[in-house]
Amino acid sequence: MKRKKKQKRRQLRPGVVPKAYGLGTPVLYFDEVYTVVPTSAKSHINTHNQTICLNVDWQNPDAVKQGVLKLLRAALTTKIHERVIAYSAYYGVSYNTIRIKNIRSRWGSCSSLGNLNFNLQLAGASDAIVDYIVVHEICHLRHLNHSADFWQAVEETIPDWRVRRKWLRENGHLLNLDYQFKK
Ligand SMILES: [Zn+2]
Repeated sequence: MKRKKKQKRRQLRPGVVPKAYGLGTPVLYFDEVYTVVPTSAKSHINTHNQTICLNVDWQNPDAVKQGVLKLLRAALTTKIHERVIAYSAYYGVSYNTIRIKNIRSRWGSCSSLGNLNFNLQLAGASDAIVDYIVVHEICHLRHLNHSADFWQAVEETIPDWRVRRKWLRENGHLLNLDYQFKK
């Protein structure tokens, strides 16, 4: 309820417009600008020429958007699983589920049941940022708070976590998949 209200307010703010998806749309893919292009093959991401190749109905912007999001979700899911497995082994913690969600409010979350959630928008972020969020949530498996002990655990593998947190606070809106923020 509260969130819905907030979304409405942001939509009305000047300089914030819904992100348009179509042929040639630039999309951030792990900190690099990719371009949306057509393919007659199955939709896929080409890392050699930085393109997001879609086989969709181009007359339908929502189909294009969903095509992009589906590929980003698959790529981020693979990366997040890989990083969670590595860092949970380092910290000696076990987790329950991993989910990827396209939400605006948080980069990640960790429940007392060990369920880890990550924001789909991280598909546009650098590996350094993805790792910071993964480590942050993994450390919540030990400390369900932001105590000094929690940050000390984060610092073991991410010594410059402050820099990465600051980057997210200042630039995180650039990763938004639903809205564009114009100056
Ligand atoms: Zn936290």
